[in-house]
Amino acid sequence: MASVILVTGGSGLVGKAIQHVIENEPAGSRFGKKENETWIFVGSSDADLRDPEQTRKMYEKYQPTHVIHLAALVGGLFHNMKYKLTFLRENILINDNILHTSYTHKTQKLISCLSTCVFPDKVEYPLDEHKIHSGPPHDSNFGYAHAKRLVDVQNHAYKEEFGCNFTSAIPTNVFGPHDNYDLEHSHVIPGLIHKCYLAKKNGTPFVVSGTGKPLRQFIYSRDLAKLFIWMLREYDDVEPIILSVGEDEEVSIKQVADAVVQAIGFQGNYTFDTTRADGQFRKPASNKKLLSLIGDFTFTPFEPGNYYLLFDVMNPDNFLLALMESAKWFADNYDNARTGKK
Ligand code: NAP
Ligand code: GDP
Repeated sequence: MASVILVTGGSGLVGKAIQHVIENEPAGSRFGKKENETWIFVGSSDADLRDPEQTRKMYEKYQPTHVIHLAALVGGLFHNMKYKLTFLRENILINDNILHTSYTHKTQKLISCLSTCVFPDKVEYPLDEHKIHSGPPHDSNFGYAHAKRLVDVQNHAYKEEFGCNFTSAIPTNVFGPHDNYDLEHSHVIPGLIHKCYLAKKNGTPFVVSGTGKPLRQFIYSRDLAKLFIWMLREYDDVEPIILSVGEDEEVSIKQVADAVVQAIGFQGNYTFDTTRADGQFRKPASNKKLLSLIGDFTFTPFEPGNYYLLFDVMNPDNFLLALMESAKWFADNYDNARTGKK
């Protein structure tokens, strides 16, 4: 049966990565485009998804049978801390419009995107899919976290009341080409790439926010893209699924800063601004469920320029290569990248 797959947030970090994988993996292969599929990638200029009417018109125009819903107001720690209400409201509006329009348009399958930020702050580690609602999220991003948690609640309600096939994915911290490199609003990897790039170019100090001690799990956008494509084709359950490297693959912010220094080829020293927030200290998430379901997953062969092995992102050499790819993309695209300078 022919399917029309609409990717909201198609102009962002994860959307561009899905487009890259679909267009560059061999046609008909596990992650390549299938003959009966039409993929459509939309950004906010196609429709402002906070608006129900624009959302409805978009569904009428494309008639999607499947939707991967990535569109969101997204930001790093400092952006989230400053605009909690905006993160809450915009994401509630966007998500409610997408879920309800998917229902009214009889969309066969909808996968929405949560984040490991949704989990409770005080909880037994590792995080797993059952712990989303078992306590308040970290204060730094409670607006974003509550909006995203509601998607899981809505997915269950749409299934119970109307039998909808809606589910959600929970990625950890993502990085790669087409990221948002805004100095104040971005996530840590693009933020540090931009800051280190400027330090090298202008001979200015390279300052890392916080103590450098917090731990995070990172996933390269093109690996995450493959996992979304796998979910679209093979995962059919309302319960969310964590898309992550292993829980033992946490990296400190200092290790990230060291890797960025190497990737950029910065020769100077850097300092920590400990007056700035650290955010949540750690949020290690388990990928047990994913690994038990994805089965005979073939790891991407490691070749220079082909990044690194799937789930092996934290191998220091491979992580560095992936970072270099992101840093190189940023340098090559400095004039057009999202840097907050426009
Ligand atoms: P991103 O690069 O900032 O992209 C956000 C996307 O959402 C863009 O395509 C943007 O469109 C679109 N968008 C924002 N507001 C919109 C609106 N009002 N109407 C229509 N489209 C709108 O974000 P990302 O990092 O790819 O994130 C994708 C998904 O992954 C999000 O749901 C996010 O919560 C989740 N996630 C991200 C991370 C991470 O580390 N980045 C971690 C966990 C989960 P335009 O660019 O065209 O304006
Ligand atoms: P989080 O995983 O949602 O907290 O998001 P981030 O990707 O924003 O990571 C935040 C962590 O990186 C915190 O411990 C920050 O103190 C630290 N950090 C260091 N420098 C930066 C920076 O330039 N930008 C951001 N966003 N975080 C930074």
